[in-house]
Amino acid sequence: MIEVQELRHLYDGRAALDGVTFDVHPAEIFGLLGPNGSGKTTLFRILSTLMLPSGGRAIIMGCDAAEDPTGLRRHIGVVFQAQSIDIKLTAEENLRHVGHLYGLSGAPLQSRIAEMLARVGLADRAKDRAETFSGGMQRRLELAKGLLHHPSVLLLDEPTTGLDPGARRDLWQYLHILREQERVTVIVTTHLMEEAERCDRLAILSEGKLVALGTPAELKHEIGGDVILLETADPESLARRIHGRYHLDATVIAGKVRLERESGHRFVTDVVEAFPGEIQSISVSKPTLEDVFIHRTGHRFWTEDKNPEEQRAADRK
Ligand code: ADP
Repeated sequence: MIEVQELRHLYDGRAALDGVTFDVHPAEIFGLLGPNGSGKTTLFRILSTLMLPSGGRAIIMGCDAAEDPTGLRRHIGVVFQAQSIDIKLTAEENLRHVGHLYGLSGAPLQSRIAEMLARVGLADRAKDRAETFSGGMQRRLELAKGLLHHPSVLLLDEPTTGLDPGARRDLWQYLHILREQERVTVIVTTHLMEEAERCDRLAILSEGKLVALGTPAELKHEIGGDVILLETADPESLARRIHGRYHLDATVIAGKVRLERESGHRFVTDVVEAFPGEIQSISVSKPTLEDVFIHRTGHRFWTEDKNPEEQRAADRK
């Protein structure tokens, strides 16, 4: 369906993609997850034929992005981060305009427009100008626009940027509906863990490299056990001594000692007794996708101490 093989891209001699390989299966929602600067946009631009890779191959439905970009474009619908609908036009007019670009017209176009507006929950707003829509509705109209010409693959670049949490969840529901009803394969870039959780499979990127590939459950399962965070006055020293005593990988992440361990609840009793008075707080939790990222790269997903809430606030600006 989609094959990405040893894909490389350099900007001014610096690698933004450094040999990335993965396949995407039919009708799956495939996420490209990575922090800012990890190479998502570069990969997205190559898949959508806006840019040629410096090396390797990207093939969609048998068409190579470098050798047959025109052929490839027939198979894809693309929704970019920047708005592409005309807000002065109605929902229907926006879609009619796109239909004409793809050579559709008359009754078949009209019925396809009605079908797509219904799929994205805008059937009753067909005759309203897009400027009267909420951000989430406008984004859904973008989805309808990207899918009007029956592409097999839909490429979405950070589709929920700027939307509030409710509208984000809503958009993801529609994505799942579109996948079921249009049988479309979706590739979506995101830097949000909760969105990545909703994908069937994920490729996690860090500094232009693929660091993990699998379903969210598989990736988290691989950590095996619990993630334990310990707060203490001198985390470096405690991490060294825990390593010495238990032969565990104890790292310091964001000022806390972090360990991965089966039956975390039992281990914490032991560690508190072994280092009396040193540990100020403890948390034991099931691994998240952020833990998968830390496990594979040794560093945090959120740079500049941005947690998801702050990141969202930054996104809205
Ligand atoms: P992401 O979408 O994950 O934030 P990008 O693909 O935009 O990542 O960027 C990957 C790397 O390539 C970053 O180090 C970024 O600074 C660099 N980069 C992106 N676009 C350009 C460009 N046009 N010129 C030079 N460097 C770029």
